[in-house]
Amino acid sequence: MTRDAPLPEHSRDTLVDKYGRRITYLRLSITDRCDFRCTYCMAEEMTFLPRSEVLSLEECLRVATAFVGLGISKLRITGGEPLVRKDVMWLIERLGALPGLDNLVLTTNGSQLERFAAPLKAAGIRRLNVSLDTLRPDRFRSITRIGDVAKVLRGIEAARAAGFRRTKLNAVMMRGINDDEFADLVQYAADHELDVSFIEEMPLGDIPGRGNTFISSEETRQRLAERFPLVASTESSGGPARYWRVPGTETRVGFISPHSHNFCDTCNRVRITARGELYPCLGQNDAIQLLPVLRTHPDEAEPLRQAIIGSLGIKPFGHDFSHQMEAPQVVRFMSMTGG
Ligand code: SAM
Ligand code: SF4
Repeated sequence: MTRDAPLPEHSRDTLVDKYGRRITYLRLSITDRCDFRCTYCMAEEMTFLPRSEVLSLEECLRVATAFVGLGISKLRITGGEPLVRKDVMWLIERLGALPGLDNLVLTTNGSQLERFAAPLKAAGIRRLNVSLDTLRPDRFRSITRIGDVAKVLRGIEAARAAGFRRTKLNAVMMRGINDDEFADLVQYAADHELDVSFIEEMPLGDIPGRGNTFISSEETRQRLAERFPLVASTESSGGPARYWRVPGTETRVGFISPHSHNFCDTCNRVRITARGELYPCLGQNDAIQLLPVLRTHPDEAEPLRQAIIGSLGIKPFGHDFSHQMEAPQVVRFMSMTGG
C-alpha cells in the first residue's frame, strides 16, 4: 500500500490505518496526576488538569468498549500514576469483564502496589510493568523527588504473592545518574524472576538539561554483556522493544529504543491521554479530541466509533525524534500521553 492511499474500507470490527497496519493495542492514560515527580517525566511544580477536563471513569469505559468493538485485544492502563486515580478499581473490574479484551495490563510506579496487587489480579489484569530506575533509596528519592524505593520493592513482592508472573521492570537509562546500576537491575530481575526493559530517554516535555543524560540501548547492551552472556531473542511485543535472554534464568532483558531503531512500520498501537486526546503516534503532535464527542453524544456509540476510525487517517507513517535533544520536539510530558 502506498503512503498516500486512502483509509481502507472498514469491516465492522477492525481498525486498519492507511498504511495497512492493523491497530490492536490501546494505551489509555486514566489520570495526569502522580504521587512521584520523576525528573525525566515531570517538572517539579506541575499544574494538573481540572477534573472537568479529564475523562471520567465512565468515559474511559465507553472509550475502551468502543475500541474493543473495533478489534482492540490489548489495553494498557497507564497515566500519570493510574493507581492514584480515585475509584480506579471500578474501571478495572469492568475492563476485566469486557468480552474480546484478552490482554488487560497496567503500568505503575509501584507506590500503591502493596495495597492493589491482589484486587488487580482478581479483576483480570494479566501483567504488570513497574517502573524502577534504581534500587538505591537515596538515588530513588532524588530521581522521583519524593518516592520510597522500599515501598516499591514491597509492591513488587506483593504482586508476586498475588499471583502475577513475569512482572516487567522499566528503567529509564540516564548517564551519570543510574548507568552504574544497570547490571544490578538485571541481577535483581533474575533473582526475582522478573523481566526488565531499559528505555532510552525521550524528548517529551520541556525539561532543562535533558540532553546530557541520554544513553543508547546499544551502549547499555554492550556494557551488560560484560557481566551477562546475553542471548538475542526473536520475541517481539509488536512494539519498540528488542529482547535478550539471560541464560540460566527466565529473565528477558528488553531495550526500548525510539532513537536507535525504526519500529514504526510494524506499529500496532494508539494512545489516549487523560484528557481524551487520541494520539495515533507518540512522536507527533496531531490528535483527535474524543472528549467533545463523548459529551455531545452521551448515549450514542456510533459518533465515538466514527471518530476513532477517522483518527487513523492522521496516523503518520513514522515519528521523528532526533538525537539532538536540546529542544523538545513534542511539547507534551510523558505523564500526559501515558508511557
Ligand atoms: N506512573 C507510571 C510509571 O511510572 O510507570 C505510568 C506512567 S509513566 C509516564 C510510564 C513510563 O514512561 C515509565 O516507565 C517512565 O519511566 C516512562 N517515561 C516517562 N518519561 C519518560 C521520558 N521522557 N523518556 C522515556 N521514558 C519516560
Ligand atoms: Fe509519575 Fe510515572 Fe511520570 Fe514518574 S514516570 S512522574 S511515576 S507518571
